[in-house]
Amino acid sequence: MQTHAFIGKRAWVYGATTLFSALLVKGLSEVHTWQGAVGSGVAVVAAYYVSDFLTGVYHWSVDNYGDGDTPVVGSQIAAFQGHHQKPWTITEREFCNNVHKVFMPAAPFAALCLLASPWTPGPVDVFLSVATFLTAMSQQFHAWAHMKKSQLPPIVDQMQEAGLLVSRRVHGAHHKAPFEGNYCIVSGFWNPILDAGGSDASFFRKLERFVLAKTGVEPRCWHEPDYSWQEAEGAPLQGKII
Ligand SMILES: [Zn+2]
Ligand SMILES: [Zn+2]
Repeated sequence: MQTHAFIGKRAWVYGATTLFSALLVKGLSEVHTWQGAVGSGVAVVAAYYVSDFLTGVYHWSVDNYGDGDTPVVGSQIAAFQGHHQKPWTITEREFCNNVHKVFMPAAPFAALCLLASPWTPGPVDVFLSVATFLTAMSQQFHAWAHMKKSQLPPIVDQMQEAGLLVSRRVHGAHHKAPFEGNYCIVSGFWNPILDAGGSDASFFRKLERFVLAKTGVEPRCWHEPDYSWQEAEGAPLQGKII
């Protein structure tokens, strides 16, 4: 029998998806010319790249700052940091159970976008809908990046192979010390750009110095790596107890 908690998680995922879809339909309903079609196509592509970037920044922030007691996002911080110690558990969760924590904040954002949509151009609605949906789905893309090839739906395997979704190989690098890069989990496109080969001048190191200057807080990755976050050498990502 399904528990009330599980039904609630499902309701968040389906409710948010309904809002994303309504926003997308509203945006596409305004496509009457080829210029409008091009604008919507550009919006989808932009949303794909922006969502990968946003997941990287968010993942970096929760891996490096705060803990389970942090207000508002404490449970997400605990979940992300705990993921490094038990990475295989993400593959064992049912879909809604895995993604609902991201769909929950995405739902009110999508509702606000929908309320504002009478005043926003169609391509903007398309962009906001697709970017929010892909960002919310990143938790599932992340789960797929931890699964064995044989466990993946064939289309997902092909998309990973083509580099359209973050792959096991690309995300596996995030699970190796010093745990200071490869944060993006939609396609992983931004990872080499943001990490700049581990340079001190990379995007995240600059952002960390900025946070330090403003708050006096150093990121976790500046300190001796927590080797309990380390994936066993050569082990398959999924199903391995470390
Ligand atoms: Zn992480
Ligand atoms: Zn992971």
